[in-house]
Amino acid sequence: MSDQNPLFIPGPTNMPDRLRHAMQVQTRDHRAPDFVDTLLPVLDGCKEVFGTKTGHVITFPASGTGGWEAAITNTLSPGDTVLVARYGMFSHRWIDMCQRHGLDVRIIECDWGAGAPADRFEEALRADSVHAIKAVLVTHNETATGVKSDIGEVRGAMDAADHPALLLVDCVSSLASMPFEMDAWGVDIAVSGSQKGFMLATGMAILAASPKALAAMDDATLPRTFFDFRDMMQSNATGGFPYTPPLQLIYGMRESLKMLAEEGLENVYARHHRLAEGVRRAVRGWGLQLVAQSPELYSDTVSAIYVPKGFNSNALTDHAFKAYGVSFGVGLGEMNGKAFRIGHLGSLTDVMVLSGLATIEMAMADLNYPIELGDGVSAAQEYFRTSRAATLKSA
Ligand code: PLP
Repeated sequence: MSDQNPLFIPGPTNMPDRLRHAMQVQTRDHRAPDFVDTLLPVLDGCKEVFGTKTGHVITFPASGTGGWEAAITNTLSPGDTVLVARYGMFSHRWIDMCQRHGLDVRIIECDWGAGAPADRFEEALRADSVHAIKAVLVTHNETATGVKSDIGEVRGAMDAADHPALLLVDCVSSLASMPFEMDAWGVDIAVSGSQKGFMLATGMAILAASPKALAAMDDATLPRTFFDFRDMMQSNATGGFPYTPPLQLIYGMRESLKMLAEEGLENVYARHHRLAEGVRRAVRGWGLQLVAQSPELYSDTVSAIYVPKGFNSNALTDHAFKAYGVSFGVGLGEMNGKAFRIGHLGSLTDVMVLSGLATIEMAMADLNYPIELGDGVSAAQEYFRTSRAATLKSA
């Protein structure tokens, strides 16, 4: 029965029955003339979620990692310099990918738990008077540490330095759960995937590219075939795909966009904020610390939580899984053994989140953590009970 329990990993997320049904369609011919009626509204519908009117939405059969690769290979050439801060496992992995593609990666090292350092970006960009830096790469929501960065501030730093670099942003674990404003923040490529805020199976990398990013393709010589924007855009223009599309996921995405629109994006964001705040109240109730260093960095989709000294976070997540059949996020990279994560994004309600908090609380009690049953759950209950009317029209 444990497959009935919700997941509390920060993606892939719980799939609502409505989306599972939407993906359960018979194979159809993606070269038939009516495929255009399915594909194009989906691409168009994603624009609002990205917060763009001028951006071009492009999808590949891949996960978010494929989206990273598409972003860099379509805009950069071997030896190009990119500027990126490392403050968690996902910023680290994107850096690693850039290095393996032969890019010259200027890394700003930050504490894990900090966000993108706009001031240090500005300093590096001002110092780059010859404009060697071709792109600034930022992870909007660092899933390993539960840290949200201020992309508008990064754009402000780039503008203050009057630097023409592209701004490439990973919004894999924030899109469709937390506000994202591609146009307002001057983002050139935003990279996401189907399995987090969109509540679907994994398998679609979803990107939005600005006109400036598309123009950069002309000079970009990193090898690309499967992830070539131009091939994809040319086929998409007539409703086609350069290869076989993930049809069932495209149907799922059509329904996901409907669900998001029915709830209303503002309500989706408000719900995520409220769920996250309930989790944070529980963390405080347990007397534990978030990895995120300060409130403006708190992510509304995932909380990374330090276990007390002398405890191992992997033992906690293993025990929760073995004893109660519930998955929580393990500590990644530098956080391995030190922190566990509660994913609170996608298809979740107050009641589901309370079940996760009650479970991890039981697991902590079983392992003799210095907490009492109810310490965290009651704090979240009190918050959910009293904040409901103020923040939510419907759950
Ligand atoms: N970026 C972030 C912030 C992520 O959270 C993830 C996955 O969790 C990725 C990139 C990689 O995406 P994927 O696992 O879909 O390849």
